[in-house]
Amino acid sequence: MSKKANSGKYCSFCGRSEKECNVLISGVSGEICDICAEQAHEIVNETFKSSGKADPSISLSSLPKPAQIKEFLDQYIIGQDNAKRFLSVSVYNHYKRILQKNVEDDVEIEKSNIIMVGATGTGKTLLAKTIAKLLHVPFTIVDATVLTEAGYVGEDIESILTRLLQVADYDVAAAERGIVFIDEIDKIARKSDNPSITRDVSGEGVQQGLLKLLEGSVVNVPPQGGRKHPDQKMIAVDTKNILFVCGGAFDGIEKKIAQRLNTRVVGYTANNGSANVDRNNLLQYITPLDLKSFGLIPEIIGRLPILTYLEPLDRDALLRILVEPKNSIIKQYQKLFEMDDIELTFDEKAYEYIVDKAIEFKLGARGLRSIVEAIMIDAMFALPSEEQKDLNVTYDYAVDHFEKSELQRLNAG
Ligand code: ADP
Repeated sequence: MSKKANSGKYCSFCGRSEKECNVLISGVSGEICDICAEQAHEIVNETFKSSGKADPSISLSSLPKPAQIKEFLDQYIIGQDNAKRFLSVSVYNHYKRILQKNVEDDVEIEKSNIIMVGATGTGKTLLAKTIAKLLHVPFTIVDATVLTEAGYVGEDIESILTRLLQVADYDVAAAERGIVFIDEIDKIARKSDNPSITRDVSGEGVQQGLLKLLEGSVVNVPPQGGRKHPDQKMIAVDTKNILFVCGGAFDGIEKKIAQRLNTRVVGYTANNGSANVDRNNLLQYITPLDLKSFGLIPEIIGRLPILTYLEPLDRDALLRILVEPKNSIIKQYQKLFEMDDIELTFDEKAYEYIVDKAIEFKLGARGLRSIVEAIMIDAMFALPSEEQKDLNVTYDYAVDHFEKSELQRLNAG
């Protein structure tokens, strides 16, 4: 039996009484229930789609400005100012470009796909994910390592678009404005700077395939993924307005940057040059040339005009990552305990211990969660059924619980 009193109100569309609805919204001269409101929303969306009108949710005035985009990113990502600024500007320009398409004009804004270079676990994926959250556009992450040339074991390049279609619920128009994050783009670099004479199924061939998507073309996509076969009905997706963000660690690229800097120093400014080079963070000097030396083909580099880098995370950055972001790991655990009415607090020294362990085990930011999990597991198991309503994690508590954990044994062994 519903506990709601019968107020005599009914949905003006379907006639359900207030008792029969979850929510009944009152208007000036009638009511609408939650089910009808949702159906109305769907009908509006369908009408827009079939009429080919642009999505009303994107307009220049509603688009966040680059500074606002960066501010939003700041809430979730620590540091990485350079990458944030480049990403904010290129995303903003990307949507300007989409909006421009109705304007009769000779100036056509070109696509601004992005490539981010930085060690694993420094926030590349997090940046792309957070941008997509802000813009409410379909977003997918694909791993370049699984891609191979058509006809070989692995996934076809088109599978990237299948994923995007799936997250967009097969709404082609929405998918065509989405963002694709291609992770580990460095893994499809060819193995040497010279074009190889042997076949390179997971390297240059894939880059050639990818080129087609990056430059913008209509691609036939198998809706369920997998290999194309003749009977399958394909969906045509235009990639012209899809923003591609690529990320990669490019292990060893620092050496190539150093080499290039050195030749420049010797060649042009024999005496002073290298004195100003910050050798601890060579990535900041990265140029498209270095990507070429690493094995990306020039055509791909040309289609990824925005090049930015991520800083290595030092101890201070890791400490901040642990506590500061809007959904930081510590805040997440505090929330979990709060749901059992338990107040969870940490001593500063405990934070430092967690960070030191992440550094010691070379786990970076990715390791912070597993270390906190190892420390908290006993409390998470026991406290919900006990009387204790608070827990302060001291340095000693952290050391005790971490040292007897599986993680500690794995790393020690
Ligand atoms: P990448 O894509 O560079 O390999 P991720 O973005 O997947 O790294 O980072 C892994 C995890 O580490 C993230 O989910 C996040 O919890 C944390 N992290 C890494 N870098 C940062 C950062 N700069 N700010 C906040 N959290 C970060």
